[in-house]
Amino acid sequence: MRLKGKVAVVTGGSRGIGRAIALALAEEGADVAVNYQRNEAMAREVAQAIERTGRASDIYQADVSDPEQVQRMRDAVLKRFERVEILVNNAGINRDKSFAKMDDDTWRSVISVNLNGVFYCTKVFLDGMAARGYGRIINISSIVGQMGNFGQANYAAAKAGLLGFTKSLARELAGKGITVNAIAPGFIATDMVSGVPDDVKQKILAQIPLRRFGEPEEVAKAVVFLGSEDASYITGQVLNVNGGMYV
Ligand code: NAD
Repeated sequence: MRLKGKVAVVTGGSRGIGRAIALALAEEGADVAVNYQRNEAMAREVAQAIERTGRASDIYQADVSDPEQVQRMRDAVLKRFERVEILVNNAGINRDKSFAKMDDDTWRSVISVNLNGVFYCTKVFLDGMAARGYGRIINISSIVGQMGNFGQANYAAAKAGLLGFTKSLARELAGKGITVNAIAPGFIATDMVSGVPDDVKQKILAQIPLRRFGEPEEVAKAVVFLGSEDASYITGQVLNVNGGMYV
């Protein structure tokens, strides 16, 4: 119960890593606002699973790349929970194409969700954290932002951008009692990697010293740690959860 009494928001919390994060935060005692974009039924299932653990939860529809929708989500979350101590910026997409084929729309859509979305969500929840002198912001970046990847110039740029954002914000907000950290997952078994062809999967596995893809729960445990008092002296850091693929 390391997060007892805390309120958390998880963007993109209806499936994959975000779902595992929302459930893990609740298991440690946090009430959780689950943001989703389209799949209300899956988001509701996550909120119900959280309520079964005895914590409060609700679902909030918003496209994180739309500042007006993010503002409305903030208003609704604060109406229900009054405050937010932990913000997990998890929502993300990929639109992979070699750079030669990458058009303006493919570039912009990934930057809009993965980078601008983090800016908008952080903006709206920051004031309350600063006013109370306490906050935990955890940004889900990627190993691809550290290593680059063929066909992912847009995604890598956004995820690398998140690391610069995290480090800058950590410096700006430390005096207000807010820590800001990033997690850089390697290849995690979710919908995002399930579409990768088998031969490519084998090539990726060969590069992972632990010889397997990670599980969403293994990323969620790192989020719980960074969101807890155990990480009180950690800010501006990138925590790699990648099976040793990038060291
Ligand atoms: P996923 O596709 O299963 O989940 C992504 C979630 O983000 C979904 O719930 C989706 O609805 C939501 N989302 C997408 N666009 C949104 C928007 N505009 N507004 C609100 N929500 C939106 O993928 P995942 O693997 O669970 O990825 C979660 C995060 O982890 C992403 O930021 C991803 O880039 C990152 N990541 C994943 C891996 C991996 O191997 N799976 C590796 C490194 C980083």
